[in-house]
Amino acid sequence: MPPIQIALVGVGKIVRDQHLPAIAKNGDYRLIAAASRHGTVDGVDNFKSIEAMLEAVPAIDAVSLCMPPQYRYEAARTALEAGKHVFLEKPPGATLSEVADLESLAASKGLSLFASWHSRYAPAVEAAKSFLAATTIRDVKIVWKEDVRQWHPNQEWIWAAGGLGIFDPGINALSIVTHILPRPLFITAAALEFPENRDAPIAATIAFTDADKLAVSAEFDWRQTGKQSWDIVAQTDAGEMVLSEGGAKLSIDGKIAHEEPEQEYPMLYKRFAEIIRAKTSDVDLAPLRHVADAFMLGRRKFVEAFHD
Ligand code: NAP
Repeated sequence: MPPIQIALVGVGKIVRDQHLPAIAKNGDYRLIAAASRHGTVDGVDNFKSIEAMLEAVPAIDAVSLCMPPQYRYEAARTALEAGKHVFLEKPPGATLSEVADLESLAASKGLSLFASWHSRYAPAVEAAKSFLAATTIRDVKIVWKEDVRQWHPNQEWIWAAGGLGIFDPGINALSIVTHILPRPLFITAAALEFPENRDAPIAATIAFTDADKLAVSAEFDWRQTGKQSWDIVAQTDAGEMVLSEGGAKLSIDGKIAHEEPEQEYPMLYKRFAEIIRAKTSDVDLAPLRHVADAFMLGRRKFVEAFHD
């Protein structure tokens, strides 16, 4: 199989931290171009816009769209119209409807669309799913608390409408629970805290249930200093399951059951190559749907202004 000739769009933090090393190590791909208003990638042709790049480099087979979600739809549509497979960073878009539109466009053109959820590929997630499938779950608590100043310094887009605020990391937890729990969840109550000078929430609490009345709660908070928490804790008939460190480590009743180095982005690129070769798409909107539901059903409270 010839390598998939790929290009990156929106060269920022996640491209440098994860996409470049993952593509470099994967023989299924050859990185041939990048498009970004300011950022550049060494050793490939660089362009200021996706339109200029697609016109100048017809050999591109696929693009990874790594700009903030509010700007992804236009780029995705442009790429699909030009006949390219598309990898969407998470969250796949700013609205559910625009991603549904991309999904039908990709299908109508026989192209692959990948709504990537990197946390689903955290090392202990599959082990947690298997553990839960073999027992009865009593309740689930998600605690996702981090320091926004440490992880998102000067990212204005994340505080703008459509940037999702605390749901930018919170959606990673939702991408895991929607994968490991046996039945679809739905939100019964939510409370969102908005800094008075921002259009996106800094904290949220959510109550979910499912058709069997399982109680699932989530606490998301960006004001956490000191120890950071990315944990999913389930009480089950087979003991207490703790999936911690964002899905990297699984413990049952305090004993480590699974822990290995993370390979999230290498696995995302493996999956993208698989769906391109299989001429299919992989678009699960469940995590984004829960965020939309939280905005729709959630009570709102204004809290102290946030300044970087
Ligand atoms: P970022 O560095 O702030 O933004 C990425 C790039 O997007 C910027 O360097 C910028 O490049 C371009 N961009 C910014 N505003 C734009 C606009 N208005 N129109 C078009 N392009 C714009 O963000 P990031 O941390 O890489 O995150 C990007 C996406 O990846 C987000 O959806 C995020 O949730 C996801 N993600 C991030 C992380 C992480 O750890 N940071 C982890 C996993 C997933 P130019 O100015 O050169 O155009």
